[in-house]
Amino acid sequence: MAYDAVVVGLGGAGSSAAYHLARRRLRVLGLEQFGPGHDRGSSHGRTRITRQAYFEHPHYVPLLLRAYELWQDLQQRTGTELLRICGGLMVGPATGALVSGALRSAREYGLPHELLSAADVRARFPAFRLAEDEQALYEPRAGVLFPEACVRAHQELAVSHGAELRFHTRVLDWHSDGARVWVRTDGGTEEAGSLVLAAGPWMPEVVRCPLELSVERQVVFWFRPRRPEWFTPDRFPVFVWETPEGFFYGIPAVGGRGFKAARHHGGQTVHPDRVPPVRPEEAGWLRAQLRLRLPEADGELEDAATCLYTNTQDEHFVLDRHPEFGNVVICSACSGHGFKFTSVVGEVAADLATEGASRLPVGFLSLRRFQ
Ligand SMILES: Cc1cc2nc3c(=O)[nH]c(=O)nc-3n(C[C@H](O)[C@H](O)[C@H](O)COP(=O)(O)OP(=O)(O)OC[C@H]3O[C@@H](n4cnc5c(N)ncnc54)[C@H](O)[C@@H]3O)c2cc1C
Repeated sequence: MAYDAVVVGLGGAGSSAAYHLARRRLRVLGLEQFGPGHDRGSSHGRTRITRQAYFEHPHYVPLLLRAYELWQDLQQRTGTELLRICGGLMVGPATGALVSGALRSAREYGLPHELLSAADVRARFPAFRLAEDEQALYEPRAGVLFPEACVRAHQELAVSHGAELRFHTRVLDWHSDGARVWVRTDGGTEEAGSLVLAAGPWMPEVVRCPLELSVERQVVFWFRPRRPEWFTPDRFPVFVWETPEGFFYGIPAVGGRGFKAARHHGGQTVHPDRVPPVRPEEAGWLRAQLRLRLPEADGELEDAATCLYTNTQDEHFVLDRHPEFGNVVICSACSGHGFKFTSVVGEVAADLATEGASRLPVGFLSLRRFQ
C-alpha cells in the first residue's frame, strides 16, 4: 500500500486535513480536480469573516478557540498574514437570532464582548446607521481570514511534511473494505488505509451515504465606498446584519480592495459544474440594504464573483466517520459558515482517520442527528 491516507478535494478543509495527516508522519496523497487556487468551489474570494461569539450555536465555540490557535500557528510557521483582527459587529433586533445567539455564546464561554446601542455604534463606527430598535454585539476578536493564502499555507506545509498533492485529477469512485480503500481517478487507482472526503460542493457525488445536501449559488460584491476612510479595518469591523429581509454581511476594504458585502443565503440551487455568471441586476437587493444601513458604502461596483454554499438540512456541518466504513471520514464543513473552522476541521479529520475519534467536542456534528 503506497499511502496511509487519501484526501479527496484540496480546498479549505481538504488542504488542512492533508497537512494534519502529513504532520503525523502519515504517507498522504491529496487529489484535486482543478489547479491550485481555483475559483470554482467555496474557498476563493479574497476574504472570510471569522468570529467566536457564535450565534449559530455555543457548541461551536471550543472549536473556534482551537481554530484561532491553529491559524496563528500556521501564520507563524509560514510567515504569511492569514488573519487580521479588526473586531466584529453582530447587528439586529435585540431578540433576533443573531444578537441573542451571539450573546448566549459570549456569556457561556466568557468571550470579550460589548452590547452597543444604535447611537454607540454610530459614535464608534461612523459608516453604520442602525435603527433605534436595533442593537449590536461587538466582538473584539472577530476579523478577516485570507482564504487563498490559508489554503496555500496548508498545502505548502503538507508538502513540506512529505504529502503528495496531485492537481487536475478527478476522483471518479471509491470503495472500502473497512481496513483499506481503493480510489479510482481519471489517472488510475490508488490504494490507502483511510480516506478523507472533503469535496465541498461536489460532496453529493462522492459521499455515498444518505446525506441530504443542497448546493446554493451566492454572489459577492466589492464596492468603492463614497467615503473610503470609513471602511478601512482600523475604523470598520466585519459585520453580520439581521434584517426583516434576511441576513447580509460585510468586510472592510483590505489589501487595497473595495468594501465587500453579500447577502447570506437566498441564492438558487445549482450543480457545481454549471454555475451561472453574475448578472448586474443581482446587486439590487444588496444596494437597497446599503442605502438604508450603510449609505456611504453604496458607491461604484468594483467587482463581483460567484461562490457556492453546500447546505445540510439544519445548516450545521457534518464531521464524522462514514456510517458504513470506519476508515472513511466525511468532512463537509460548509453551510456557508465553514471557512473559519477549516484549520481545526483538518485536525479533527486527521483524528478521526487515525484514531477513530477526536478529543475535540464534535459529537454535535455527527451524521447520527439525521437518522
Ligand atoms: C460567498 C461565500 C462567503 C462565505 N463567507 C464565509 C465567511 O465569511 N466565513 C466563513 O467561515 N465561511 C464562509 N463561507 C463558507 C466557507 O468558505 C466554506 O465553508 C469553505 O470554504 C468550504 O471549504 P471546503 O473545503 O468544504 O470546499 P472547497 O473549498 O470548495 O473544496 C472542495 C474541493 O474539492 C474538490 N473536488 C470536489 N470533487 C472532487 C473530485 N471528485 N475529485 C477531486 N477533487 C474534487 C473541488 O475542486 C474543491 O477544490 C463562505 C462561502 C461562500 C461561498
